[in-house]
Amino acid sequence: MAICVVGHKNPDTDTVASAIAVADLYTKRGMQAKPVIQGEIAPETKFVLDKFGFTSPEILTDAAGQKIVLVDHTDLSQSLANLDKGEIVGVVDHHKLGDVTTPNPLEMWVWPVGCSCTVIEAMYKFYGIEIPKNIAGIMLCAILSDTVMFKSPTCTDADKKAVESLAKVAGVDDYQTLGMEMFKVKSAVEGAPIRELVFRDYKDFNMSGKKVGIGQLEVIDLSMLDKIKDALFEDIQKVKAEKGNHSVFLLLTDIMKEGSEMLIASDDPSVVEKAFGVAPDDQRLHRVWLPGVMSRKKQVVPNFEKAFA
Ligand code: MG
Ligand code: MG
Ligand code: MG
Repeated sequence: MAICVVGHKNPDTDTVASAIAVADLYTKRGMQAKPVIQGEIAPETKFVLDKFGFTSPEILTDAAGQKIVLVDHTDLSQSLANLDKGEIVGVVDHHKLGDVTTPNPLEMWVWPVGCSCTVIEAMYKFYGIEIPKNIAGIMLCAILSDTVMFKSPTCTDADKKAVESLAKVAGVDDYQTLGMEMFKVKSAVEGAPIRELVFRDYKDFNMSGKKVGIGQLEVIDLSMLDKIKDALFEDIQKVKAEKGNHSVFLLLTDIMKEGSEMLIASDDPSVVEKAFGVAPDDQRLHRVWLPGVMSRKKQVVPNFEKAFA
């Protein structure tokens, strides 16, 4: 039975590219593996897979009876159902360690870099396995996506080096242009259902016993969202009620201005001021501009965790 390599819920480009690359790597190391995902891919990822000739991996939502490698997450709330009824044999990630535990020893590759694919690029080198050209292409895009083309504070020199090296393998001469094309696709929100936008890049966290959801939309120009901001706010209030969350926050990130507007649906909106030192700048107390904030992982989650503690 093939090992299933799986990333987080609401798959992003890194989660999908990492699943494909790690499955390739494990298979070439003599352990049959296949990539799976937990849900439908977003337009950015579809663009990337199409560009390098991949189809979307099959969907798996339950770990029972499976051998599993986790990529791009270790939080139970972001993982497969019944993870304890499967066997986790490996982890490749670049986030804080989550709450996944195992009864057996496992292989772990967890580095504080901007993207799981940066770790995977080093794994290929470690095992002396050549990266296939098309896999190098999607890994390259994943790094550009996760690091917001090197602008995110999560970006490290290792990410930049990996991009240089992957661009050569993939035969991509101008990765800046490719990155901008990708972010244009990501920014296209017209015609997309509001709920799909809220969940496009959404994660639930357990913060001191409170369920906190944080979504993020990254666009080239925040004004593209002007017309739908009210609808997005209404919908995160609904999501909060449906999930029984304490809070649902939606980050609207302007990748050119390098900051985020946060929409706030919370039982206690004062946590936002506690976390970021900025008061909501809107009468209705549900919006705040956070200059310089681009990374949920490095800037938003840690601040909220402290504020909720
Ligand atoms: Mg991810
Ligand atoms: Mg990632
Ligand atoms: Mg991201």
